[in-house]
Amino acid sequence: MTGRNHSDVLVIGGGVVGLACAHYLAQSGRAVRVIEQDAVGAGASHGNCGLVFVSDIVPLCIPGAVRKEIAGMLRRSSPLYIKPTLDPARLSWLLRFAGMCRADYLPHAMRARADLLQSSSLLFAGLVQSGAIEAEYERRGVLLVYRTESAMRGYEWVNSHLEPYGLAAEALIGKHLQLHEPALRSDVYGAWFHHADSHLRPDRLLQSWKRTLLGAGVAIEEACGLKGFHLAGDRIEGAATGKGDVSAEHYVLAAGAWSAAIAKQLGLKLPIQPGKGYSITMERPAVCPRIPCYLYERRVVATPWPSGYRLGGTMEFSGFSSTLNAERIQALKHAAGEYLTDPVGHPVNEEWTGLRPMTYDDLPVIGRAPRFRNLILATGHGMLGITTAPATGKLVAEIVCGAPPHIDAGPFSIRRFQ
Ligand SMILES: Cc1cc2nc3c(=O)[nH]c(=O)nc-3n(C[C@H](O)[C@H](O)[C@H](O)COP(=O)(O)OP(=O)(O)OC[C@H]3O[C@@H](n4cnc5c(N)ncnc54)[C@H](O)[C@@H]3O)c2cc1C
Repeated sequence: MTGRNHSDVLVIGGGVVGLACAHYLAQSGRAVRVIEQDAVGAGASHGNCGLVFVSDIVPLCIPGAVRKEIAGMLRRSSPLYIKPTLDPARLSWLLRFAGMCRADYLPHAMRARADLLQSSSLLFAGLVQSGAIEAEYERRGVLLVYRTESAMRGYEWVNSHLEPYGLAAEALIGKHLQLHEPALRSDVYGAWFHHADSHLRPDRLLQSWKRTLLGAGVAIEEACGLKGFHLAGDRIEGAATGKGDVSAEHYVLAAGAWSAAIAKQLGLKLPIQPGKGYSITMERPAVCPRIPCYLYERRVVATPWPSGYRLGGTMEFSGFSSTLNAERIQALKHAAGEYLTDPVGHPVNEEWTGLRPMTYDDLPVIGRAPRFRNLILATGHGMLGITTAPATGKLVAEIVCGAPPHIDAGPFSIRRFQ
């Protein structure tokens, strides 16, 4: 197929990862089309906490993670909730996650995550400086805040692993913490301060990036869901969408939590489960935090922007449901009240839920797919998709263009699951 419906690259999914891929592909001179079943930024990329969390190089699957979380896992009000299920895909994912909580996996995962995060951090600075994105981006660090000394001590192990990477956090206790962040309650014990992190407003990130891409000639088709593929041997020849057939030389699958179902149409196994999270977006409270605060025991993040304020968190493994659970929304406010003097802003502008694309080894899947030589995967970014999108986009552009990858792409290959 040639002509109007043909492009060099077709990107499936208009979330932050799809837009980042489109950005670096267009910069490399490729004609790009993005198809999005809903609207750009309608998925997990919309209402997340907006941390550019470059110090978060330790994966979720660490030794002891299962033992530590298991007691709370089945409690509906717990920050981590796993709905009892007989779904074989979810059960297998959970078993494999447990299998990854090994000391020998940690150095490999940390190296790979550090490469991706460090690259993204530099790329974000460039994107902001060039004006490609306008998202209230600020580098103020992130505070991991603890109500109790014992919980704060629990992070020392992680912090010691961050030291060799130059990412160790500074401990702030009592008055020192109050000086850094006066919005915290005086009975909070302390915080680890990560200086290298930044934050931004995700909905503005997506809208400004969309504008920049349209200006650069990228075709963005919204309300244009992928329905299926036209195959010819080891190539994808075309894609059927809700708006008709389109074709491309290369196809990038960047459909977040929905990627596994799309890959299945091609006979590919992608072990990605939706990890449901919640957020509430409000006007800034009168006493608003200056620095984003990760309220650690409750796994809730409070993110301030000049234009508003958000509480977000929870991780629910309960399938693809988009139902807003009022109990969870309430739990976010309640948790914030345990740490912040003025935890809730008025009015509340949005209550939201989104699905993180979770892999069981907490590394994304970036690289060529097996069986189809013109399919590239860019998915499974879990809890860090905003942070890692730019480096993912750059890597995908390098793969498409046959350029040497700027970081080692090996750890992100789908082959690790085969
Ligand atoms: C509560 C919460 C807080 C978070 N906080 C942070 C944070 O502070 N920092 C951070 O880095 N990350 C954070 N994340 C994670 C981050 O939001 C995700 O990792 C990231 O948004 C994933 O981006 P994506 O583009 O892969 O997926 P999505 O944004 O979900 O985009 C995928 C898109 O594909 C589209 N799609 C699906 N199927 C089709 C189809 N058949 N045809 C066409 N289009 C299709 C969907 O509509 C969707 O728009 C958080 C997530 C949640 C839920």
